[in-house]
Amino acid sequence: MKYIKNYNFLSFFLLILTGIFVIFVQLPKSFELHVKNISIFINLIALFMSLYFGKSKIFFLLLLPLFFVHYMYHPTLLGLDGGKYSFWYMYPLVLSTGFLIISLLQERAIMSIYGFFKFFIIFSLLLLSYFFIKNFSLDLRLALEMNLVGASSLNFIKIQDFALILSLISLVFTAIFSFIFYGKSQSDKSLFWTLLALLIPSYFFEENFHFLLFYSLSAILAIIAILEDAYTMAYIDTLTKIPGRRALEDEFLKLGSTYTIAMVDIDFFKKFNDTYGHDIGDEVLKLIALQLSQVKGGGKAYRYGGEEFTILFKSKTAEQAFVYLEEIRESIAKRGFIIRDKNRPKKPPKQKVQPQNQKTVSLSVSIGVATSSKESKIPSNVMKLADEALYKAKEAGRNCVMKAA
Ligand code: GH3
Ligand code: MG
Ligand code: MG
Repeated sequence: MKYIKNYNFLSFFLLILTGIFVIFVQLPKSFELHVKNISIFINLIALFMSLYFGKSKIFFLLLLPLFFVHYMYHPTLLGLDGGKYSFWYMYPLVLSTGFLIISLLQERAIMSIYGFFKFFIIFSLLLLSYFFIKNFSLDLRLALEMNLVGASSLNFIKIQDFALILSLISLVFTAIFSFIFYGKSQSDKSLFWTLLALLIPSYFFEENFHFLLFYSLSAILAIIAILEDAYTMAYIDTLTKIPGRRALEDEFLKLGSTYTIAMVDIDFFKKFNDTYGHDIGDEVLKLIALQLSQVKGGGKAYRYGGEEFTILFKSKTAEQAFVYLEEIRESIAKRGFIIRDKNRPKKPPKQKVQPQNQKTVSLSVSIGVATSSKESKIPSNVMKLADEALYKAKEAGRNCVMKAA
């Protein structure tokens, strides 16, 4: 299930789906203008969303296909004449160059000097391509058709050698920067998939319809990435990568009449921080969050704040949830956390010796648990009861689970 909820997997799947669609479904010619209008509409939505969410790279890069779709269908609007045969020569070159440069740059505010710099690059690129399209000569065409690696002699490859090489370089660099160098957000990753979607028609099809469908897909991939980032920002805790308090509060709105809330608090965590430092404390918080998120019995873990977590069991009573909470408490108490000395060497020693600069520390959690009832139906009340039970667990010596009275 984790696979399916992966942006890369989704993008790959949608690319394949679009590929199958364009190969096997013949759309009547009369559809073309409608499809074009819808494609532009989707592109505009993606542009506005990237502007709204401050995704400068996506914003500027999506201007490139917008230019080309106008060049294909409304050349006079751009002051170009009908010599559209240069489209498939210029399109992959301009896209590859644009993505290659922009994907290397950092994501910064659109309305800033960095944003202006990106605008300058895209504007210059468009101006340059405008110039070449306007003055597209036979000489230029022959130069672009030059045989370099012999790929254009292959039947199923439509793109010219030079454009192929440039586009592959661009894909490789965009991939490195999208996934490895930046790669924090889905918007970073979307650059690679958007470029790939936009290039596929020039690799294999060179048909207007195919171009329009992949063009729409590229904008959709960008929109999905922007939405996913917005969701993550709102709901996922940045440190532990598990859902945060807002996600929990959202979940509270969807509860039935029976549910159980467990409040989890790490024992003596202040002391742990004081001894080993806040950074190591953060690392341990991540590990404990990961362990809590693996709770069984249908429980879902949230970071409530600080070193406090909430586990929500929908349609379970405290009695039913108790075993799963006990299980998770015990597994945390049994698990040792390896603390490495800050001055440890960067490279591991050649011989495998028991390192002296690391030691294992154990930590525990206390848990208070309460179920909804006729008297306390509202989640905030149930939570209060769970909190009181947690306090009792601390009083009772910690490292235990206490049910609310
Ligand atoms: P108790 O057993 O009574 O819970 O003792 P405690 O020391 O854990 O007490 P308390 O729950 O009040 O302490 C919370 C501490 O958790 C304070 C702070 O040092 C630490 N803490 C809270 N949030 C973070 C965080 O994001 N990172 C790190 N490293 N520490 C945090
Ligand atoms: Mg606390
Ligand atoms: Mg604590």
